Amino acid sequence: MQVERLNGLAVDFTERGYRPCFYLELHCSEHGDIRAAVETEPAQQHRCPLCGSTCDSVALGRGLTLRELPNFEVVCALTQYARKQRQRIAKTQ
Ligand SMILES: [Zn+2]
Repeated sequence: MQVERLNGLAVDFTERGYRPCFYLELHCSEHGDIRAAVETEPAQQHRCPLCGSTCDSVALGRGLTLRELPNFEVVCALTQYARKQRQRIAKTQ
């Protein structure tokens, strides 16, 4: 992937170890909000990398990463209290 700069020079980031990727965010009812980088364009649903459950996801865009693909990070983990609240609500439905 080449990125044009204002001065007309092109930099090939793949020669520097960067990998093209797609970023997405998903919400897992067990683990909270997770951001991930994947090799292929994401669908509207994606499996949670921690528990494998199918979650709604939102594509955030394309980019480059130095990390191995796929990778992820939990950006907003559910607290123990929130997890128990959700379990309590699910039992009453
Ligand atoms: Zn999960």
